[in-house]
Amino acid sequence: MTQEELKKVLQTVNKNIRCPSCGKRYDFPHIHIKGFLNNLCFLELNCPDHLPLYATIAAPISPQNKSQASESIDSDYVIKAYQLLHNHQGRISDLIK
Ligand SMILES: [Zn+2]
Repeated sequence: MTQEELKKVLQTVNKNIRCPSCGKRYDFPHIHIKGFLNNLCFLELNCPDHLPLYATIAAPISPQNKSQASESIDSDYVIKAYQLLHNHQGRISDLIK
């Protein structure tokens, strides 16, 4: 997760999540990041007067990452794969191991 994505997560929490006991917003110093898993962010939200709240937020995948993934297959690669399959006499399953 990039710093920009992290900032968005914190802003989303600050805007949308409130302490269930008193309705106070969680300011940035009261939001603690416990860990990441893929694009999930695990948070501990501390209200000064109440028990902490645990939350899991899904961060949006940045468009940069998406374009990198699609660029990894170019047309040359597709042509080579076609030629390989065309010339191969055996079963397709022999190629995939
Ligand atoms: Zn509270």
